[in-house]
Amino acid sequence: MKQQRMRRRDFLGSAALGTAGIVWGDRLTALAATTSPFRINEPFDGAVLNRRHGRPVEGGLAIRVSGVAPADERVVVCGRDTERHGDQFTAEVVLRERETTITAAGNGSSGPLEDRVRVVWDQHSFARYRFSIDDNSFFLRDIHQKQYRSLFDCFYLAMLRKLHQDYGVKFTVNIYFTTGDGFHLSQFPDRYRGEWRDCSDWLKLAFHAHADKPDRPYEDAPPEKLLADLDQVAEEIHRFAGAPSYAHPTVIHWGMTRRESLKPLFDRGVRALSGYFTKWGGRYDVNYRFNDQISEYLSAHDCWKDFESGIVFSRVDIVCNNTPLDRIASTLDPLATDPNQAEIMDLFTHEQYFWPFYANYVPDHPQRLGATLRWVTEHGYKPVFFHEGLLGASRNDNGVASK
Ligand SMILES: [Zn+2]
Repeated sequence: MKQQRMRRRDFLGSAALGTAGIVWGDRLTALAATTSPFRINEPFDGAVLNRRHGRPVEGGLAIRVSGVAPADERVVVCGRDTERHGDQFTAEVVLRERETTITAAGNGSSGPLEDRVRVVWDQHSFARYRFSIDDNSFFLRDIHQKQYRSLFDCFYLAMLRKLHQDYGVKFTVNIYFTTGDGFHLSQFPDRYRGEWRDCSDWLKLAFHAHADKPDRPYEDAPPEKLLADLDQVAEEIHRFAGAPSYAHPTVIHWGMTRRESLKPLFDRGVRALSGYFTKWGGRYDVNYRFNDQISEYLSAHDCWKDFESGIVFSRVDIVCNNTPLDRIASTLDPLATDPNQAEIMDLFTHEQYFWPFYANYVPDHPQRLGATLRWVTEHGYKPVFFHEGLLGASRNDNGVASK
């Protein structure tokens, strides 16, 4: 009975643990030889399900559960009989809790069979978007060097404020400790604390990395290194801006960490992280080193919960610095019609492309943000911070739910 359940978990675990896979690989082969497939295919283990994935009922969400089992077996899902067609089984399950374990059970010729998946119900879901900007450091150096009277004398923050005024957008700005050329956060003055506080309802600062270089600094760094860098930046943000302006990181630089770093990040308060979960050169990258199965799932879904750490992972939907102005609508349009990708828009760009001195300066970068924000606004998406509630949806937000 445990074997089938163990199989899924250990398959996922072995892919991440490397050498452990050799042991379990033998066991997988043995299992495959002696048993017919018995598993839940839908929903995916860790799926985050919203109104678009099922039928809202009083106090719950009715979803379809499907899988495969030996054709002549009676299969029950959550204690109720399923419909059978050949080796397929389907059943309806009503999610009533924030998290639900769905169990399929049968009696195999060699003993009881069981498979389980655990899913999250995004109960208070509504169409929403989050805008985060990575790799920030130049604007803080600029303010420090120019000693502006106001933060918004810096063109970059003035631009973000104008976009906020026009669209209501909220920004999470992920920052470095140092630009790497002598400026670091310890030098940044605390005399703008009042201004930071006044805009903290729409502008948050978060840790991203110690510095831009080296690339992929946390891909194989021990958790202690990542946490020390995070704590250093967090401390500075609290000093020069104050607690209301602080947010947990939305992306760790390059979207790559050791898996063992995730639980410590959760313990620091991180509840959501974004990545690309896309294939570069034949392998998934910017995927926090999750295996191909999870990365492939995330490449085609808004989000997925890693129960091991407790963190929900979100797939970035658009990278404005990479997306020409005339491609913005055509990038977002297909997402809006896909139930797996339509609910949550993860909008994203990088700071350096705003600066004329940067080698890859994008002159129309602000216009690209404007076009992206116009698109989500016209399509009814509301601005949120992902660290509030479940990716920005909480009980209080229900009142502003929109299609
Ligand atoms: Zn980065």
